[in-house]
Amino acid sequence: MSRSDRLTLVAGGAGFIGSHLCRMLLDAGERVVCLDNMQTSRASNLAALLSHENFEFVQADITAPLPSAIVSRTRQYHRIYNLACAASPPRYQADPEHTMLTNVVGTNYLLRLAEASGARFLLTSTSEVYGDPEMHPQREDYRGNVSCTGPRACYDEGKRAAETLTFDFARNGRADVRVARIFNTYGPNMDPDDGRVVSNVICQALSGNPITIYGDGSQTRSFCYVTDTAEALRRLMEVDEIGLEPVNIGNPRELTVRELVDLVVKMMGRPAEVRNAPLPVDDPRRRKPNIDRAKALLGWEPATELEAGIQATMNWFANELGEDVVVTATVDDLDRHRRKRPATSDIVREAATG
Ligand code: UDP
Repeated sequence: MSRSDRLTLVAGGAGFIGSHLCRMLLDAGERVVCLDNMQTSRASNLAALLSHENFEFVQADITAPLPSAIVSRTRQYHRIYNLACAASPPRYQADPEHTMLTNVVGTNYLLRLAEASGARFLLTSTSEVYGDPEMHPQREDYRGNVSCTGPRACYDEGKRAAETLTFDFARNGRADVRVARIFNTYGPNMDPDDGRVVSNVICQALSGNPITIYGDGSQTRSFCYVTDTAEALRRLMEVDEIGLEPVNIGNPRELTVRELVDLVVKMMGRPAEVRNAPLPVDDPRRRKPNIDRAKALLGWEPATELEAGIQATMNWFANELGEDVVVTATVDDLDRHRRKRPATSDIVREAATG
């Protein structure tokens, strides 16, 4: 196969991290096929990519057999990235069955495609596989503290099962695989209604709405700017010797949710009301990656300082939101949305009408 016939498949390529990865691959001269069901991806992320001559979009859900537009070109794929799954807690809990199936059934379809095509396969897993961690910072050999019955389990256990499937394909010689465990990521192209802490806090601060802190805000996270995350994924895919080991991708700078809120408010330059809301069930108390493996294997570490990344993200949201009043989805919306496919318009409407 000539280089110009080779295709890179990005499942979830219209999503937040996926859209940055697609852009990076296109800039590197790759031909990219993006497969996305648009469940949580934004049309505007896609629109920015569609004008590129080497970009193609196929709308489909990976919980169903892959469509002919994908399988008809099986022999052309040389790289398959799987980023397909709702990833914010309100969104992935809104339809837990679909979340679990996306990770297990969907990953299986993509692994089978990788096997048939001989493509290298990369699974984006998550720091959620560590659950509420007892080891801090989290190293890849830590086995985690995950509830298999709680509301986060559809995602946590789904990703753990996806890792299992992926490594079993590799162990049995069926596919050459890579597994990235992505920690909290933020930046442009996030969905304002995603319900994540960075998007919520920035949108609330921009619109003058009260800022919601779940619990007392002492829980910690470590936030990585999205282009750093996308670059790490690309490097992980291209590194040749890796073995059957997952790799943490994240920024080791840890801060409490309260510190994040203070930073955003300070950067906004005007006072903001802060409102405490109940801590969601099984919300991890601490999270911080050990990235020694990524540094050693990929020669990678985050390049973007938190302040610079937050500033760029605030500017992007300000531009994106214009003069509109912002209504964000929160975990409180969950009960009303349980067992419903998350549709942004529904979430905004219900949140607005209470
Ligand atoms: N959080 C918060 N206010 C919000 C949204 C989230 O205090 O408006 C908290 C949430 O409870 C968690 C942390 O911020 O402790 C990060 O939440 P996020 O949903 O961004 O991702 P997670 O790391 O929990 O998957």
